[in-house]
Amino acid sequence: MTVEAKKETLGFQTEVKHLLHLMIHSLYSNKEIFLRELISNGSDAADKLRFEALSNDGLYEGNSELAIRIDFDKDERTITVSDTGIGMSREEVQEHIGTIAKSGTKQFFEKLTGDEAKDSELIGQFGVGFYSAFIVADKVTLTTRKAGETEAVRWESAGEGDYTLETVEKASRGTEVVLHLKEGEDEFLDGYRLRSIVKKFSDHISLPIIMDRDVPAETDEEGKETAPARVEDETVNSASALWTKSKDEISEEDYNEFYKHVGHDFQDPLTHVHSKVEGTNEYTLLLYVPARAPFDMWDRDAKHGVKLYIRKVFITDDAEQLMPRYLRFVRGVIDSDSLPLNVSREILQQSKQISTIKAGAVKKVLGLLKTMAKDTETYEKFWSEFGNVIKEGVIEDLKNKDAIAKLLRFSSTHTDKEKQDVSLADYVARMKEGQEKIYYVTADSFSAAKNSPHLEVFRKKGIEVILMADRVDEWLVSNLNEFDGKQLQSVAKGELDLDKLDTEEEKKEQEETNKDFEAILKQMKEVLGDKVSEVRITNRLTDSPACLVTGDNDMSLNMERIMKEAGQSMNMMGMGGAKPIFEINPAHALVTSIKNEQDDDRFADITQILFDQAILSEGGQLDDPTAFVHKLNGLLQGLLK
Ligand code: ADP
Repeated sequence: MTVEAKKETLGFQTEVKHLLHLMIHSLYSNKEIFLRELISNGSDAADKLRFEALSNDGLYEGNSELAIRIDFDKDERTITVSDTGIGMSREEVQEHIGTIAKSGTKQFFEKLTGDEAKDSELIGQFGVGFYSAFIVADKVTLTTRKAGETEAVRWESAGEGDYTLETVEKASRGTEVVLHLKEGEDEFLDGYRLRSIVKKFSDHISLPIIMDRDVPAETDEEGKETAPARVEDETVNSASALWTKSKDEISEEDYNEFYKHVGHDFQDPLTHVHSKVEGTNEYTLLLYVPARAPFDMWDRDAKHGVKLYIRKVFITDDAEQLMPRYLRFVRGVIDSDSLPLNVSREILQQSKQISTIKAGAVKKVLGLLKTMAKDTETYEKFWSEFGNVIKEGVIEDLKNKDAIAKLLRFSSTHTDKEKQDVSLADYVARMKEGQEKIYYVTADSFSAAKNSPHLEVFRKKGIEVILMADRVDEWLVSNLNEFDGKQLQSVAKGELDLDKLDTEEEKKEQEETNKDFEAILKQMKEVLGDKVSEVRITNRLTDSPACLVTGDNDMSLNMERIMKEAGQSMNMMGMGGAKPIFEINPAHALVTSIKNEQDDDRFADITQILFDQAILSEGGQLDDPTAFVHKLNGLLQGLLK
C-alpha cells in the first residue's frame, strides 16, 4: 500500500519555543534526564494500550509484547528510543508535540526571569517531557503509528522555530524517537553509559527496557566455532512494578526515582506513603507529596496525579475519584487487587469499592501529613507550597474536618510574622485564663490584617489573634466553627465578650461612658443614616477613633469585597442588606472633641470622615473618595486659619 506523502511544515507555538530555549540552557547539567522522559512516555503509551486492549484485543495486532527498546548507532551518532505502546494519530502528534495545551501556560512563562538558576527551578514545576530530547539532540525524528490504524506519521524538528509532519509507513504500532546527537554528546553512544542511566532512572517501571547485547562467538576446546558471534536482547531494568515489592526491598533512592516517573517531576518528593491494605477490598498504594506545587495547581480542572491500576494494568489517570480536590497535588499509584479488570471508566465513577479506596487513601495521606508535621522544617516547606490547597479541605471534606484542622497553620499576633507556622493547637495552648474563644481577623493582605484597628484591644490585653489574609480563609472560617471545643470568633464581628477578662472597675467605667455618649451616638446615627445599622461605643479600640463591625451572622466586610470583585451580587446571594455597625472610641481625642462640637454641619463632616476612615483602615474603598478629600481639606483649612 502506498500512502500519499503529505508533508507540511508547521510553526511551534510561541510558548514551546520559550520552553525549548529555556530547557536547553537551564537543564544542561541534568542532561541525561532526556532518557527518563522518553522512557516515561513510552511506558505511559504501553499502559494506555494495555487498557484499551482489554475491550479490543485487536489493537495488539497479534503482538501483545509491550516493551521499550533503546538502540544507538555510533556512525550515525543517533540514539533511538522505541515503544510498542498505543502510538499517536497525526492529530494527536500535532496536539501533543508542538503545542502546550495546559491552561495557564502563558502566565507561567511571564513569571520567568531570565535568570537561569531560578528559571530552572520553575521549569521543574512545569514538567519537561518530550522536549528534553533537545538538550542533547539538534534534530529529533519521531515516527509513530497508532494501534489499529494504518497510516503512520513522522514528526521532525531541529528544536528551533518549526517542525515538519509527514505521512509515512511504519510496520509496527507504537512510537520511535530518534535523537541526532549534538556535537560533543558522544558520551551517550555507549552501551554501558546508557544502561547505567536506565538503571538509575527507570529500574522499577514495570515495562521491560531492552537493549542489544553483543555475545561473542563460542568455541570448543579445539578452538572450533560452535556458535557465531551474535546480538541478543537483554532486559536492562528490573521491570517489576515498584509498588508490588515489599518496603524493605526498596531504597529511598528507588522511591525517589519512581516518583519522578509517575510525577513527571525532576526533583525529589518531600515524602511518601507505601502501604498494602488487606481484606475484601485489597489494594496497594504508593503516594507521594511533591516538593513543589505544579504551575497549574490553581487550575482546578488540571489533570490529577494519582494513577489507578488493577492488578498492575493501568486503568486511568483521570482519577478525581481517587483523590479529593484539596489533595490534588498528591502523585502516585493505587493498584487494586479486587476490582474486575473489565471495568469501564464510567462504571468506576459509581463504584463503591473505589469510594472505599478513596476514603482509605485520603486517611493515609492525612496520616502522612500528620507525621510530617512533627518535622517543623519539612512541614514549613510543605505548607508554603500546599497550605492554601489543604485549607480547601475544611470546606470540602466534612468527614475529615477535624484531622484537617489540625494540619492548618496560620500567622498570628504571637510573632506578627507573615510566615504561617501557628497551629490551632499552639493557639489553644497559649489561651489566656478566662479566654473562651479563638480569635481571628481576616483582611486582603497580611499587613492589613496585622495593622487592623480591631486588634487594638487584643494587643492591649495580650490576647493572641490569628491573622488571615488568603482568599480561601473567608471560606475556611465560615466552615470551621470550632476547634477543640473552642469557638472561632472574628474580632470584627458582633459583640466582643471579653468581659470575663475585664476588671470590675473597667466594667463600671464602660457603663458610665455609654450613658455619657448616648446623645452623640444618636446624632451620629442620624448623620450616617442607613449606611450603618447602629452606632455604639467600642470596646475594641485603643488607638484608632472608630471602626466598622459586622453582625455575628453577617458576611465580613472582607468577604463582601471578595464577592464584589468576583462580580457576585450580594442581593442575588440573599445576603444583601446587612449593614455594618459603627463603633467609636470614646478615649480618642477626635471623638472627645466632637462631643463638644456645637456646629451641626461640622459634626456631620467629622462623623462622615471618621466613618470613611474606618472603611479605609479595613482595606475597603470609598464610594465617593472626592467627597472624603473635600471634607478633610475643609477641616484642615479650619486648623490653618
Ligand atoms: P507529558 O508526558 O508530561 O504529558 P510530553 O511533552 O512528554 O509531556 O508528552 C506530551 C504528550 O505526547 C503525552 O502526554 C502523550 O499524549 C504524547 N506522547 C509523548 N510520547 C509518546 C509516546 N511515546 N507514545 C504515545 N504518546 C506519546
